[in-house]
Amino acid sequence: MKFSKIFLPTLKESPKEAVLKSHIYLLRAGFIAQVAAGVYDLLPLGKKVLDNIKKVVAEELDKAGAQEVSLGFVTPISMWEKSGRYFRYGKELLRFADRHGNGFVLGPTHEEMMVELVKNRVKSYKQLPLNLYQIGLKFRDEARPRFGLMRGREFVMKDGYSFHSSVEDMQREFALMQETYGKIFKRLGLDFRVVDADSGAIGGSGSKEFMVLAESGEDTIVVCQKCSYASNIEAAKRVKKIYPEGEILSKKEVFTPNLKTIEELSEFFKLPKDRFVKAVAKKALYDDKEEIVLFFIRGNDELEETKACNAVKANELVDVEEAELEKAGIVSGFISFLNQNEKIIIDSELKNEKNMICGANKKDYHITGIDVDFDDEVFDDIIAVKEGDSCVCCGASLTHTKGIEVGHIFQLGTKYSEPLEAYFLNEQGKTMPFVMGTYGIGVSRLIAAIIEQHHDEKGCIWTKESTPYMVDVVTANIKDEAQMDLSENIYSNLQKNNISALWDDRNERIGFKLKDYELIGIPYAIIVGKEASFGQVEFVERRTLKNEIMSFDEAISRIKSLA
Ligand code: ATP
Ligand code: MG
Repeated sequence: MKFSKIFLPTLKESPKEAVLKSHIYLLRAGFIAQVAAGVYDLLPLGKKVLDNIKKVVAEELDKAGAQEVSLGFVTPISMWEKSGRYFRYGKELLRFADRHGNGFVLGPTHEEMMVELVKNRVKSYKQLPLNLYQIGLKFRDEARPRFGLMRGREFVMKDGYSFHSSVEDMQREFALMQETYGKIFKRLGLDFRVVDADSGAIGGSGSKEFMVLAESGEDTIVVCQKCSYASNIEAAKRVKKIYPEGEILSKKEVFTPNLKTIEELSEFFKLPKDRFVKAVAKKALYDDKEEIVLFFIRGNDELEETKACNAVKANELVDVEEAELEKAGIVSGFISFLNQNEKIIIDSELKNEKNMICGANKKDYHITGIDVDFDDEVFDDIIAVKEGDSCVCCGASLTHTKGIEVGHIFQLGTKYSEPLEAYFLNEQGKTMPFVMGTYGIGVSRLIAAIIEQHHDEKGCIWTKESTPYMVDVVTANIKDEAQMDLSENIYSNLQKNNISALWDDRNERIGFKLKDYELIGIPYAIIVGKEASFGQVEFVERRTLKNEIMSFDEAISRIKSLA
C-alpha cells in the first residue's frame, strides 16, 4: 500500500481524555476514531490488525476442532427472561422494541442464543461433543466505558460454546481450550498468565482467565513467587494467618469517643490491628429485592468485593448511605456482629477467634474480649489476599501484579441448558440437559492489550502476527529518481514474496516520515536515501530502533527471514 493513498489521519496531539498509551497511540496513529462513548470506528490500519487477530484466533480454534458460526447480534428479550439473565445483567443490556413492540436486546454474550441454536437440532449423545464459536460484535452498556478499545460498549468478542454428554468430556474440552488459548496469545506475541478466576454464583474451580501482564491492567493478579499458583484477586486464596495470643481482655463495653478507624482504636487500646474486627456495610442487590449486609473482617484485612458478593449470592454490592444505616438502627463506626438484625457474613479466618474487639452497636462504644462463635453458615472467605501472604500450594510469599483480561474460559455445566430446556438422549436413552463450557476472547481489547505490552515513548510496536504491515519502505526524497526506482524495486519485490509492505512515498521530509513510522509501529523499515544509487539502504528494527546500512538485496532477504 502506498502511504500517499492510504486513509490514515494521524494526529499530532494526544487527545485529552486518553490516559493509556494504547488509547493515545491508536487514536494518534490513525488506527481508530471515536464515534460515541465506548464506540469506535476502525480505520484501515486498525481493521487490518483486527483481521490479523481474528485470523490467529480462528486458525487455532479450527485446529482444535471448533466450528465457526455467526449468530444474530439482535436477540429476542424472551430468551433473556427465560434464562433469568434479564435482571442479572441489569443496565448493561441494551433493550429496544421493534415496530411491532417486540422486545430485543443487543447481544452482550450469546449463551442463550447458542443453546437455542443447538437445542432440538442436536438430539443424541452421538452428535456430541460440539464446539461452536463466532467472532463478532457485542454490546454491553458499560457504566464506565474507558481506555479506548480496552473497555468499550460495542466491542468484538470471540465467544465459543461447547456441548457435551458428561462433565468429564466438558472438562477435557476445557483443558483443550486452555491449551488453544495459550497458543493464540503466544502467537500474538503476548506475555500472559493463566489465572484462577471468580466463578460467580456457580462456584467451583471451573473458571480461568488469561491475563496480559501490564502495569495499566485493571485486574489485580496474585502470583506465587515460587510455584505456578496465580489467581485473580477476586478468587485468590492464602494460608490462614495465625496471630500470637495477646493478653486476655475482659468482656466489657469500653468508651471509645469518636474512635472509628482501626488505626485510632489500635492506638487507643495499644493493641495490634489484628485484634479488632471491622465491619463493612454494603447493600446487596438481587433480581427482586435489596438488603443491607454487614461484612466482618479482621482489622488489618480488606474486603474483597467480588468474594463478598458471591457470599450473599447477590447480583451486585453497592455502598449504603449513612442515613439508610441509621434508619436500620446501625451505628456507623461502631457496628457489632453481636445481636445484629441485619444479615451478617464473617470472614472464615475469624472463625472461633477469641478475645477480639468489635463495635458495640452503640455510639462511641466498643466491646472487648469477645469470641467469634457462630454457626458455619455465617462464615465465608471474603478477604483480599495481600502481598506477603502465604501461597496455599507451596507456602511461599505471594505478590501482586496487574493484568488485562483478554480471555475467560468457564465450565458452565447445565446452568443454561436446564432453564432453556435443552436436552439430548444419552446412551441409556435418558433425557439429559447438555453439559456446557463457554470460552471468550476480547478480540478488539487485544488490539489495545498488545500495545499496552509493546510500545515505547515514540509509539506502537506491533508484534509479528498482529502488525498491519511487516515493513515500511521509506523513500527519503521522492524527487530523487534513484531513490524512487530503488524503492519501487524493493516494494514490488516484497509484494512478490507476499510480504505486506507499506511504501511511504509522500512528499514530506524524512524526519516527518520517520516520526510516523515510529508512531505507527511497523516492525521493520527499509529507508531508501542518499546511498540509493549504490544500491544501499538502511534497515531499521522498530523495537530497538537500531539501524544498519546494507545492500537492498540483503535487506529484502533479512525481511524474508524475519516475516
Ligand atoms: P471484565 O471483567 O473486563 O468486565 P467480563 O468478565 O465481563 O470482563 P467476559 O464476559 O468474560 O468479560 O467476556 C469475555 C471477554 O471479552 C473478556 O475476557 C474481555 O477480554 C472481553 N471484554 C469484556 N468486556 C469488554 C468490554 N467492555 N470491552 C472490550 N472487551 C471486553
Ligand atoms: Mg470475565
